Amino acid sequence: MSDYAKPLPVVQPWSKPFWEGTKRHELLLQQCKDCGAKIFYPRKACPECWSQELGWSQAAGRGKVFAHTVTLAGVEEKFAADLPYVLAMIDLDEGIRMMGNVVDCDPEQVSIGMEVEVVFDDVTDEITLPKWRPLRA
Ligand SMILES: [Zn+2]
Repeated sequence: MSDYAKPLPVVQPWSKPFWEGTKRHELLLQQCKDCGAKIFYPRKACPECWSQELGWSQAAGRGKVFAHTVTLAGVEEKFAADLPYVLAMIDLDEGIRMMGNVVDCDPEQVSIGMEVEVVFDDVTDEITLPKWRPLRA
């Protein structure tokens, strides 16, 4: 896995619990302890009430495709092996919108409103990326 050449997240102190969660194959969302808002991406303060009293809760890991694009060509060499690939915005059941790849299916099958579930891709020893696949009953 050490030959992974694609960009990796820069783990910040306030996003570290999120990336520790994905490493355990858990999708965590920040939640404001004062107003209850669910927060993504991870921040130092609540975007609703500016409280710095933030905690974490585990998301169900399900959502629906809000929008997506299929990339067929014209990418940097390090992404070429992934072609064609799907990048989508996923609306989680918790009311969070998260961007990620939709995998484990024919890109032509992906549609707006399609139900998806999170899967975890251990891309390096340190980083696990959340991705999405069609919901399996
Ligand atoms: Zn708040």
